[in-house]
Formats: sequence, structure tokens, C-alpha cells
Amino acid sequence: MAISKREACFIGGEWVTSDQWMDVDDPATGQVIGRVPRLGRRETQQAIAIAARAMGAWANLTGKERARTLRRYYELIIDNQESLAALLTQEQGKPLTEALAEIIYAASFIEWFSEEAKRVYGDVIPGHAPDKRIIVLKQPIGVVAAITPWNFPAAMITRKIGPALAAGCSVIVKPAAQTPFTALALAELGAQAGLPNGVLNVLTGGAAEIGGALTASETVRKLSFTGSTEVGAKLYAQCAPTIKKLSLELGGNAPFIVCDDADLDAAVTGAIQSKFRNAGQTCVCANRIYAHEKIHDAFIEKLAVAVSALHVAPGCEPGSHIGPLIDERAVQKVREHIEDAVQKGARIVTGGAPHARGGRFFTPTVIAEVNQDMIVSREETFGPLAPVFRFRDDAEAITQANATPFGLAAYFYARDLGRVWRIAEQLEAGIIGVNTGLISTELAPFGGVKASGLGREGSKYGMDDFLEIKYVCMGI
Ligand code: NAD
Repeated sequence: MAISKREACFIGGEWVTSDQWMDVDDPATGQVIGRVPRLGRRETQQAIAIAARAMGAWANLTGKERARTLRRYYELIIDNQESLAALLTQEQGKPLTEALAEIIYAASFIEWFSEEAKRVYGDVIPGHAPDKRIIVLKQPIGVVAAITPWNFPAAMITRKIGPALAAGCSVIVKPAAQTPFTALALAELGAQAGLPNGVLNVLTGGAAEIGGALTASETVRKLSFTGSTEVGAKLYAQCAPTIKKLSLELGGNAPFIVCDDADLDAAVTGAIQSKFRNAGQTCVCANRIYAHEKIHDAFIEKLAVAVSALHVAPGCEPGSHIGPLIDERAVQKVREHIEDAVQKGARIVTGGAPHARGGRFFTPTVIAEVNQDMIVSREETFGPLAPVFRFRDDAEAITQANATPFGLAAYFYARDLGRVWRIAEQLEAGIIGVNTGLISTELAPFGGVKASGLGREGSKYGMDDFLEIKYVCMGI
């Protein structure tokens, strides 16, 4: 059975519609491509009850049985990768090659956690008295709520539902309003794989209403959120009265440091991959590039050549490197960041304006002579703008790199081994890319420090957030 664009939510194994709808558009054209139901508080409460009822039987299966279903789910995503990628590009805008890579990345979380489902080990601890034994059990935490952003419509979902389902939890996903069709397609494939009804549910609708009902519920024991720091902080507060466990994957403002001993060609390749993937709309995007004064001019020159060669076109067109931004507000934000920087003395090296194609397309841009007074030094641009700062020594670069409330990813290029260790240890971020601009994999723990979030996703650590530890004290 091929996947289709579903204009309905998926609750308890049923496709549910509503008399209220939300349109979804194609960012490349601005044309409406479909609509999804606008559900609210009441439907969310019903979905929570359904998810709670469904969880018992799922949690009672052996890890190996859950692993088998998740393995089928992984294979179905892989088998449908091309149609999933086409759907993703249509609603999100990224180039088809990137959408395909995202689908494979998304599937990798289901694959990894299908294997981890069999390895939820407890512990036996030496007793504290001759007649006592200490046993530690790990059990599924309960119903999980997952709220996800539009920039990675597939991977941000599977990174949450993979471990939740493997642990034996049931899940309610609230995808971003801009990209619900990928989420609904993933629900459909989960059902085809044999996930029992009610174990994986996808609700679209009013974010504050659905979020309000999920966070207020005593039945929902865990919220896993990926999105902006502003909304994350709000949800953190909303979860306090029910003492819910939280993971927050929030905004970033990644520094990208190019030291004087760096391989400049490699640094340019890394900067392009890190900065311009998804048109600069990734949370781990290099947002502030620091170039040592000795290599500053040579680096800028090479970077400008590589950036000018990026082809701006709709994601579905072959050869597209940079698709449209998600909406007009995003275009406006990039514009404002450039205007602010130029007003304060920055120089446009290449680009600098919306693209001639119009709509939501923006020309990939490099600006130089950037300093700490400019908005780009403080705020995530979330667009194809590479601001380059100049620095004199490592201490200055590290101080400036850490001068942000965020701490998701940080990158640097250097060859001296001692320097590599020192900088890696001193940068305040959850993820460090050394001589690489690509850091995401299901095998490694992903997450931030400071205002970039709480918890880690992926890897062996990714399961912990969906488990409770129970200590059994046994008298013998
Ligand atoms: P956003 O915070 O606006 O929205 C994220 C999700 O929260 C969406 O589903 C949205 O509908 C929902 N939401 C919004 N208001 C809500 C409310 N009051 N209650 C409940 N839910 C609510 O973020 P966005 O614009 O979709 O995504 C971009 C942001 O996400 C960027 O800051 C980016 O850095 C961050 N992000 C972080 C990671 C990470 O892993 N750290 C990954 C991707 C994106």
C-alpha cells in the first residue's frame, strides 16, 4: 500500500476529521497543497485516554516483540523513502536530495531503537544488609507527548517516537502546522508495520490548545519538545504542576571557528554543509563564523566563491541547493539581520537580498567585518546568512563563541592536537564538530546545554528519558 497525503488526524488507529481545518502550503509556490483538521483540547483529552488504554498491552510485550514491529516500521520507511521525501519537500521546501537524506536519517532512529528495545537492562546492586537484596528495574514512563518543529518534519518525530515505542510507551505527536503531512504519513506506516491502535497517534490543530491539554494531563508523564527556546520555556512552566519529565531540544546559535592552522578548503566545505543545509534553517547551523586574522581574507574569498555557486531553486527541481524559506516572516528576519549588520559597519561579500525568483527565496549571503554589537551575534538567523567575525587568538574566539545564552552545537577547524582538545573542552555546547560540519547521527547523543535544552536524543542515552527507574528492596 503506497502512502498518501492524509487530510485527517490519526487517533486510536482511526482517521479523524473535523469541521475546522488548517491549510498547508508549498513554500516554493505559496500554493495551498491540502488541509488538516484543527483539533483542540477536547480531542486531545480523548486521544490521551486512548493512548493510555493502548499502552498496557504494548508495554507488556517483550522487548524482542516490540523490536520486531519497529524493525518492520523501519523497513517500511526505507521502502517508501522516495514518496516520503517528495511529500516532505512539497510541504517544507528543502531540496529533494536533502529530503531523501532526512528520511533515511529519520528511519535510522527507528532502526537503532528497534535494536535498543532488547537491551533495556536493569541492575542488581550488592545489598546493604545480609538479608537484603537490591534490584533495579527500568519501566516505560507512561504516555508520551511529542511536539515537533517544521524544519525536520520526519527526523524530529522518529528521534522521539523511536525510543518511546521501544521503551513500551504510547505516544501522541503534535507536528508543526506547516508540515503535518509527513507526520501523518509516518503514522500510516506505523500502523502498516503493526503498531497496535492507539500506540502512535498524530494530532493537528491549535498548538496552544493541544499543548495545553497535553501538559495539563496527569496521564501524560513525559513531554519531548523540539522547537524554539521561547515555546520550550513556556511548556517547561506548564509541565511544572504535574511534575512531568521533560526533554527540550531548543534553539541554537552555533559558533564556527576557523583557526590559523586549519585546512581552509575543508573549513569552507564544512561551513557550507553546516550553514546552508536546509537553507540555514537547522538548529545546529553555524550561525557565527569566526576566522583567525591570519587566514581571514583567504577564508572569506574561498567561502564567497563556494556560496555564490549554490543554486537557488524549488526543492523539487534537480540541482537545487537552496530551497525557499518556510514563510515570509523568515525572509523578513534574514533581511533585518543583514540590514542591522550593514548599518553597524558590516560589509556584504556576496548575496545580501531576497532572490530574483521572488516569493520565499533568499540569495545565500556572506557578510564580513561583523562584531558583537550586531543582532547576528546574539540571535539565531535561521536563514542562508553567514556572518564572519575576525579574531586574534584562541582565547578571544572561545570567549566570543561562549558569549550566548545558547549551547547546542559548536564547530571548529584546527590541526594542532593539543589545541583541538583545549578548544573542544572549553566550548560550552552539547555537540562539538571538530574539522567537520556534519554531526548528526542516530549513534551519538544529540542535545544542548544552557538555553538550548535538557536531555539527549539518539544513542544509548536516548532511551533513558522514556524510562522510570524502580528500586525493589527485597528482604530474604
Ligand atoms: P516553535 O517553537 O515555534 O514550534 C515548535 C512546535 O511547537 C510546533 O509544533 C508548534 O506548533 C508548537 N507550539 C508553538 N507554540 C506552542 C504552544 N504555546 N504550546 C504548545 N506547542 C506550541 O519552533 P519552530 O519555528 O517550529 O522551529 C524552529 C525552532 O526549533 C528553532 O529555534 C530551532 O533552533 C529549533 N529546533 C531545535 C532543534 C534541536 O534539536 N535542538 C531541532 C530543530 C529545531
